[in-house]
Amino acid sequence: MLIDNHNRTINYLRLAVTDRCNLRCNYCMPSEGINFVKNDKLLTIEELEKISEILVEQGIDKIRITGGEPFVRKDLMALLRHLTKFEGLKDISVTTNASLIGPHIDELKALGIKNINVSLDAINRETFERITRRDQYDTVHGNLIRLITEGFNVRVNFIVLDGQNEQDIIPILEVMKHYPVSIRFLEEMPFNGGSKSFQHIKWDYKAILAHIANHFPDYRKLESPKTSTSINYQIEGHKSTFGLIPSFSRTFCGSCNRLRVTATGDVITCLYGKPMANLREIVRGQNTEEDLKQAILKAVGARAKTGFEAQQEHSKVFDSSMTSIGG
Ligand code: SAM
Ligand code: SF4
Repeated sequence: MLIDNHNRTINYLRLAVTDRCNLRCNYCMPSEGINFVKNDKLLTIEELEKISEILVEQGIDKIRITGGEPFVRKDLMALLRHLTKFEGLKDISVTTNASLIGPHIDELKALGIKNINVSLDAINRETFERITRRDQYDTVHGNLIRLITEGFNVRVNFIVLDGQNEQDIIPILEVMKHYPVSIRFLEEMPFNGGSKSFQHIKWDYKAILAHIANHFPDYRKLESPKTSTSINYQIEGHKSTFGLIPSFSRTFCGSCNRLRVTATGDVITCLYGKPMANLREIVRGQNTEEDLKQAILKAVGARAKTGFEAQQEHSKVFDSSMTSIGG
């Protein structure tokens, strides 16, 4: 079992498989001039499999595939097929922008991969295109509805962006009330590839809840698992639920069970912290599995207690884009 230096059990891996993306969400990356890493710096499928295998042996029982956009990787399904064979792995899930997932939906279902998070920050076409800087609205909406109706456990991640999409909060709840889906509203974080920096946000989780409560006063709080990052609610008469994720306010560090491995193999023990090891260098060098295990244990054993503490440990905290960290 992986237990950190603050006695938190780590059983959840967020594995970024690429830093590339076919969209350009303006809160995540700049429109151009992005320094994508060279292909040979990205972990190969075999390396991703090896690292996952070691981590599952060490106690990871949930892996979320993220990126960049995971489905820009042509060999993604090979990785997913391999992961489904790991006995200790109880849950494999994917975070996606849903623009490229269409051709893979049948196989995902056949593999038993049920949990899909779809990032969608608008229900209005113009808002969507302004934020993503691409015209994938119809494809994304079509795939989202297909995933829901085919029985996947879908959560929609909606980042509330001041001046950009707050007018879509109520409409997305109205549209989704007919479906068994969870809409999670996230606070914006300053990980956007350096295109914008900020120290305060207008739309924190309290402001988002106040806005929703103003329109739908009849809602109730739901029970959530201890390690959940979202506070969850249901509006009377809605099939859907909604959640609030205080990603900028960081109220959930005390129960954080996550480890992140980036597409280049960096181990990140806190979203706000610096990389604690590079596993690519270890798997490519003359090292043993034991060396890999020890590097992971060392990283987990030096984990900051909170995101605020991690942030103080290095000066380049907000230089990165989420596309390299994986969210
Ligand atoms: N491309 C996939 C997607 O968009 O779902 C997976 C990668 S994306 C980087 C993972 C998550 O990070 C998404 O839910 C996205 O909304 C979130 N994210 C990206 N930039 C963010 C930011 N500046 N603040 C908060 N969340 C962010
Ligand atoms: Fe791409 Fe996801 Fe970042 Fe949007 S949030 S640019 S879809 S990686």
